[in-house]
Amino acid sequence: MSKEEETVEIKASCLCKASRFQWKVPKSYLPFKGRLCHCDSCQKSHGALATFHLRIRFAATLAILEPLVRHKGSCIESFFCRTCGSVMGHTDDDVGTRSPAVPSSAHWTMSTGVIEEPEALIDFYSHIYVLPTKDGGASDWLKTIKGKKLLMNILSEGQGEFPDGWQKMMKRRPCDTSTPTIRARCCCGGVDMTIKRPASSKSSNEEGPPWWRAKSSPDKWLAVNCACSNCRISSGCDIMAWAYVSSDCITFSLEADKSTITIYESSLGAKRGFCGKCGATAWMTGGTGPENVTAVSVGLLEDCSGSRAENWLEWETNIFFAEDAAHKTLMDALSRGLREWADEKKNDSKVREQMEEGKDEQAADDDLTKNMEKKELQKTHCAEVEASNSPGNEEDVVKAKKENTVEKELAENMASVRIKEEDT
Ligand SMILES: [Zn+2]
Ligand SMILES: [Zn+2]
Ligand SMILES: [Zn+2]
Ligand SMILES: [Zn+2]
Repeated sequence: MSKEEETVEIKASCLCKASRFQWKVPKSYLPFKGRLCHCDSCQKSHGALATFHLRIRFAATLAILEPLVRHKGSCIESFFCRTCGSVMGHTDDDVGTRSPAVPSSAHWTMSTGVIEEPEALIDFYSHIYVLPTKDGGASDWLKTIKGKKLLMNILSEGQGEFPDGWQKMMKRRPCDTSTPTIRARCCCGGVDMTIKRPASSKSSNEEGPPWWRAKSSPDKWLAVNCACSNCRISSGCDIMAWAYVSSDCITFSLEADKSTITIYESSLGAKRGFCGKCGATAWMTGGTGPENVTAVSVGLLEDCSGSRAENWLEWETNIFFAEDAAHKTLMDALSRGLREWADEKKNDSKVREQMEEGKDEQAADDDLTKNMEKKELQKTHCAEVEASNSPGNEEDVVKAKKENTVEKELAENMASVRIKEEDT
């Protein structure tokens, strides 16, 4: 950089402040392009539903990485504080954005949650790896920021984008929605929990359900997004997704848990459990949270329906501690997006109910005709895209009917990419 060039100092630190760093960049580099990654590796190594990050040149930050614990997962190497577990960032093998002249390790992907005063530094502009979420995950809550649409990259950048409402075009293998337990595991498998449905909780027959229980369904847990600074810095993500689970419904796999869990007390009585081997935020208890309840990291849940785990969770539509957010523009967009998503969901289920009621009143043969018509419609409006649900499959078969343009486009995008599902 030339002498005259104006520079900006960027500061970041972990929750316990043991890892602090700062570096200067030319002002002309700003704003950094922030993005949300929804890949399995990011979810499992942060514990969040999506990671919020930006890419910077590795060389500038080598000193930063020195005191941190590093964990090499299947496709990212994450760096976190050994005391508080804050995931500062990672390097990755993101082939789609790697320039051929630069080795993959030359890129450092930094968690935006640990950066001070991010509002002036970062503009969020895209989602990557939306496909592995199956249901859209947190990407459905952040479609626009200040009227500007975010890119919905199917996988990495430049590998094809999803059109609006892509989920409805996907045809998936059926998945068992009524399983009595769900597993939650971190990236290295060292934190391994099995969670039961609320109906099996001892405290489920009290005088009315407490606020932290799902309202719509007795067999779901309530999930919330928290934007408080402790959640943000420890996960490295601008919002951290928690599922409130009665502690008596969680079983820890003892062999795995004993070896890797590390506990950090972030405020008086508030204990945060993270994996000492891979850095994933795993759970939180105490503090302002309800008694005998453990907040479990949603990013660790393994629900066949998708990242939002809606077989198991009902989502609260207000973001907790939104007023504490460091990036206000991002938080405004997320808060609005989350409410809009919830409204749309409500409308969809109303329409479904009306359809059901209507059905009862009609004669059976009428019903049959309707179903036939519906099937015809599906034939022409749905791309038959098969995305495998089975973990460990490196490639999935992609088929598409080519009757209309949207389908064709989607099919072409899908066929051009390899669907990566990391074996976690
Ligand atoms: Zn720390
Ligand atoms: Zn990722
Ligand atoms: Zn782990
Ligand atoms: Zn919080």
